[in-house]
Amino acid sequence: MKIQNYMEEVVADELEILLSERDDVCKCQKCRYDMMVWALNRLPPKYVITDRGRLYTKLKEQEIQFKADVVKELTRAINFVAKNPKH
Ligand SMILES: [Zn+2]
Repeated sequence: MKIQNYMEEVVADELEILLSERDDVCKCQKCRYDMMVWALNRLPPKYVITDRGRLYTKLKEQEIQFKADVVKELTRAINFVAKNPKH
């Protein structure tokens, strides 16, 4: 068993979805990480207990509640990193 910040998974998944709709931003690994860190520092962590990759907590309802916030922060993150690339 281990403790994991489920928000990281959600942010990673949502970032891929949002980036697939954007042709105007850099999508290299460095920029992706910058976008994830930017968004994760502004979103509340969501710690869960996992066992062999399975989540104990039922997440579906919670997921819907915070997904709008994740999309909002990620969109800001993408725009910020696109304007301020570190390379
Ligand atoms: Zn880049």
